[in-house]
Amino acid sequence: MTENPILYVIGTPIGNLEDITIRALRILKEADVIFCEDTRITKRLLERYDITTRVTSINARTERAKTHSVLGALTEGKNTVIVTDAGTPGISDPGSYVINAVREQLPHIKIEAIPGPSALTAALSIAGVDAAEFLFLGFIPHKKGRQTIVKELAETERTTVLYESSHRIMKFLNECKEFFPPNRMMVIARELTKIFEEVVRGTPDELIAYFEADEDKQQGEFVVIVPRFDKKGSREEEEGEGE
Ligand code: SAM
Repeated sequence: MTENPILYVIGTPIGNLEDITIRALRILKEADVIFCEDTRITKRLLERYDITTRVTSINARTERAKTHSVLGALTEGKNTVIVTDAGTPGISDPGSYVINAVREQLPHIKIEAIPGPSALTAALSIAGVDAAEFLFLGFIPHKKGRQTIVKELAETERTTVLYESSHRIMKFLNECKEFFPPNRMMVIARELTKIFEEVVRGTPDELIAYFEADEDKQQGEFVVIVPRFDKKGSREEEEGEGE
């Protein structure tokens, strides 16, 4: 317990458990309580580093109802951590509701970011596309508004990144095939930092053929990047380079 407790928001691995900063490990060890999504997943990380701090669950479903627990812990003077199952809290993950509540209801509490991995930045860092500026869509809607987004992606003027689940990756690629010009290039980063990590670049047609050839490759976690529509966005112009 301390007079001036801190709320730490910590980025955790997106696969490889070694992707955790020294500072994150120290704070996880020294904190009084860790709020996480799935206690089993966070305990796997903590056990790897012999950390025995108490964990308690707060997830997208329970975030609103359990916000009082986080406020309570801080009010009692507990150094408190928020992590999610993978990556950076708040990035297509819970976190922002609780953090906003702390900012509004306990404005004297310091909130510190302990930066770590995110699938978004990991994918962009190795995709080989211009990411000086980009648009991040997170998960796009499953139904309403989905088609409009795919149509906009076809000629987006900003490199655009989105998350897609294994359940819908083939559906998404087929939607791209329907609405993209046939030579439009895109990048899929799959299973980043894990054993089957791969980055595949191609037109929707090529990517569909690639993933259909091996159903195992349709499993796992996916980041989709649609580079902005310029030289790098079209196969035709890419081949024309240097002519
Ligand atoms: N907060 C996380 C972050 O900072 O990246 C994102 C959490 S979101 C619930 C999970 C989605 O992130 C997955 O469906 C996938 O699109 C993407 N993702 C997470 N880990 C990944 C990985 N190792 N490889 C590729 N994509 C990943």
